[in-house]
Amino acid sequence: MPSRSCGSGRASRSSAASSTSPSTPSPSGRRSGSDRSSNRTRPASRSVPPPERAAPRPPPRCRRVVGARRSALPRRFLTGDAAAPYHAESSAAALRQGGAVRFADTRLDRICAKVCARERLSRDDGLTLFETGDLLGLGWLADHVKTRLHGDRVHFVINRYINPTNVCVLSCRFCDFARKPGRPGAFENSIEDVLGMIKDGVSEVHIVGGHHPDWPFEYYERLIEAIHAARPAVQIKAFTAAEIDYFWRRWKIEPKEALQRLKAAGLHALPGGGAEVFSGRVAKALAYTGKADPDRWCEIHGLAHSLGIPTNATMLFGHIETLAERVDHLLRLRTQQDASGGFLTFIPLVYQVGDTKLVPRQTPPTDALRTIAAARLLLDNFPHVEAYWSMLCGQSVSIALHFGADDVNGTLEDERIAHMAKAESPAGLARAQLLRMIHDAGRTAVERDALYNVVRVWN
Ligand code: SF4
Repeated sequence: MPSRSCGSGRASRSSAASSTSPSTPSPSGRRSGSDRSSNRTRPASRSVPPPERAAPRPPPRCRRVVGARRSALPRRFLTGDAAAPYHAESSAAALRQGGAVRFADTRLDRICAKVCARERLSRDDGLTLFETGDLLGLGWLADHVKTRLHGDRVHFVINRYINPTNVCVLSCRFCDFARKPGRPGAFENSIEDVLGMIKDGVSEVHIVGGHHPDWPFEYYERLIEAIHAARPAVQIKAFTAAEIDYFWRRWKIEPKEALQRLKAAGLHALPGGGAEVFSGRVAKALAYTGKADPDRWCEIHGLAHSLGIPTNATMLFGHIETLAERVDHLLRLRTQQDASGGFLTFIPLVYQVGDTKLVPRQTPPTDALRTIAAARLLLDNFPHVEAYWSMLCGQSVSIALHFGADDVNGTLEDERIAHMAKAESPAGLARAQLLRMIHDAGRTAVERDALYNVVRVWN
């Protein structure tokens, strides 16, 4: 973990200054008053040029996401907090003072220097983040980046999770949600059923479901149209890239056409599911080769971005994947964001053991915290990293808000995918409970909409 030593650091610098000879430049390159005085008394005929003076520092200024990063989001996606200025320069100042932070794992010193200089982290750096034993040091670094982006703000949304159906042609081995047609536990909702689920006050609906063998693309199109007509103020985030790909596999609707038609019907954004882990080895072992592979998943998100549809991204972790596969997944997302720039949030999804039992028990909270922190540090072009409360253990969420996360998702109301895998969290939370979760962490709660426009700041 890092030990803050600002006090002792100041003392040692002061001591060093008092013992420095007048002709020795200070660490800043400036000379002392007595030194400048001695220069003025030198004979003009001496050929020694005057010492180079450091240029005066420009006054500090607010820096925005646009222009401050190598691959910032296009302005059309920068609404609300995504366009907010950097904060917490005090934290940055602490890091700039060499020696102010010490890590138990000295490999983090090199990464810290890169983070301070806003340099991109490498694959090796990513592996270090996942392997280091200095968990608190890692969290401190990630929190520094999060604070630089968002200050002490943590976002949440009043939303409604809706699954039109869990009937699915696939049988991914990690999934407790899907059912075959007519089997116990299978459900299919009509458009009227879905409309009845959306109550007053909801600002976002989040819709994902199984790959239904018979429902035509037009059902999904009409569903979006009906929601938009009934609730024009509600933003609709619907259909993973895997589902968009399935519309092609089943109905030969090209992804671009599907996205254009859904957007015309009222779609605002795409959720980030269906990515699982970008690994052919894992896809084969867990039988999800029948859906969009990493190239296809990224292609569809890139298409959405080009059409002005922002999206999220996920990674399902804590099962049979390796740490290197996690790093490669994150770097693939970062590359896609460089290319198309429309990702809003990265959401690490903790695998729920449920009845699929790929591993004996859920990955520990420390692994979830490590993954959130590593994601915040590696995904330097993602505005937001989420601590998805529904899949984290109890108090981990508040702790994750000190490990790089700036979002907790929302009220959900009736989350089913994790809960059919026996997630221990509630199926939904009230606004007051989310506020308590965020305030307990000592953060400022910011209610947002699906596109990160600020609805209200809750102090
Ligand atoms: S993860 Fe999605 S595609 Fe795979 S079985 Fe479950 S519902 Fe179907």
